[in-house]
Amino acid sequence: MSITENITRLKASLPAHVTLVAVSKFHPVEALQEAYDAGQRVFGESRAQELTAKQKVLPDDIEWHFIGPLQSNKVKDIAPFIHTIHSIDSLKLLQEVNKQAAKHGRIIRVLLEIHVAQEEAKHGFSPDECRELLHGLSPNALPNIRICGLMGMATNTDKAAQIQEEFHALHTLFTELKNAVFKEDESFCELSMGMSHDYPIAIREGSTMVRIGTHIFGEREY
Ligand SMILES: *Cc1c(COP(=O)(O)O)cnc(C)c1O
Repeated sequence: MSITENITRLKASLPAHVTLVAVSKFHPVEALQEAYDAGQRVFGESRAQELTAKQKVLPDDIEWHFIGPLQSNKVKDIAPFIHTIHSIDSLKLLQEVNKQAAKHGRIIRVLLEIHVAQEEAKHGFSPDECRELLHGLSPNALPNIRICGLMGMATNTDKAAQIQEEFHALHTLFTELKNAVFKEDESFCELSMGMSHDYPIAIREGSTMVRIGTHIFGEREY
């Protein structure tokens, strides 16, 4: 199936409240352009250099999301245009995004990445670290970022029950933080979870953003 067909089919199958982030990392600009022509406007990339190169040559109305591990020294490269960063995993990174966003007079939307998988290699805050961070943050300390929700990845496994449990835990934490910290804040409304192999489970567990690459663009060649 073509990229156009994949986009069309996916969009038709997703509930209206779920945003499709087309994960285009490692795919050439021609592939992104085809998705764009099929109506896709939200794209996710995981490397700063690749992202900035693509952003330069593709249409201006694309909403770029950063989804991979982000080094502090790369924030300045994406700060002029990035819409949402899904992968905030330290206070230091949060502060750097705020600082670089301020330089451009922008507000950058961020999600806090939570480690719910069993794999050690995955990034993110533990639920306790996340609680600690948010309770310690004074309301106006970081005026150029907007904390819009949480992001997480489930363990890479075939066991649907385990994936479901991990997504469920993420949703539970989201609800807790919404009530405890973000009750008056309408911006805190996103739960980014679900990839090509597990997005139907993620949607059942309350995802509002799915990050799908392979099901749109095919296998990546690294
Ligand atoms: C690559 C990537 C995805 C997309 O993975 P697919 O299995 O190709 O859908 C989603 N989220 C993150 C954080 C990724 O790095």
